[in-house]
Order: sequence, then C-alpha cells, then structure tokens
Amino acid sequence: MTVSSSISDSELLAWLDEDLDTERMTEIELALRASEELKSRLIVLIQERDHGTVTVGEVWRRQHLSCPPRHELGSFLLGALDSAVHDYVRFHLEIIGCRTCQANLEDLKQSRSTAPDVLERRQRIFASSAGKLPRDGK
Ligand SMILES: [Zn+2]
Repeated sequence: MTVSSSISDSELLAWLDEDLDTERMTEIELALRASEELKSRLIVLIQERDHGTVTVGEVWRRQHLSCPPRHELGSFLLGALDSAVHDYVRFHLEIIGCRTCQANLEDLKQSRSTAPDVLERRQRIFASSAGKLPRDGK
C-alpha cells in the first residue's frame, strides 16, 4: 500500500550514500518526506551505522542531502506548504537541526520583515533625487 513499506533498510543506507539510480533516489526521498515511520527507521539506521559517534545532523549535512530549497523555506515561513512537506521541513530544521537551513530561514525572516521598508525608502530616495516625478505619479 505505501511506498515506505517497500523500502528496505539496505536501500535506505544506499540512499544515504547516494548509491541508487536517480529514480529510486527520488522515490525514497519523497517517501521520507511523507512518512514519519520511514524517517524514524532512517535515524535508527544512521545511529547504528555510526555507532553514535556521529550525530544525525552531521551525517545529514555531510551528505548534503535533503535540504529543502530556499523557496520551500519561504513557503514554510508563510505556512503555505502541504502538510507532509511542512512536517518534513520542520523535521529537517528541528530534529536534524540543519544549521544551513536554520541560517537560511533566519535570513528569510529578516528580509521579510525589512523588505517593504527598504523598498519604500528606495522609492522615496528615488523620488526626491529625481525631483521630477509628478505628484500623482504613484
Ligand atoms: Zn538543510
């Protein structure tokens, strides 16, 4: 019934090593996004394989896998993602603790809160330096 139940432990490990064909890589990544159970299995596998000497987050970052694209982080901030994807991004940020994505998210928050202000200031500066804009030109 679900894709996740058809994915073996050895396939999950192969996925971590990017040792599968592209189609299967994509299938497993999508299944991971959708399945809490599969994520849990992956975490256990990583911990077993690394005998607890490497944290899950380190493995994740080392593999450069599964970072959501920046636009997805933006949608995450807006709460505009499908719930499965939203959960995945939260998992990535909070459980995996990906510093790159946390920094990206901070950056997005900053630009979101300052952007309209900056834009307005630029428009004012432009208007005053041009000095020729009609008053009703807005
Ligand atoms: Zn990330």
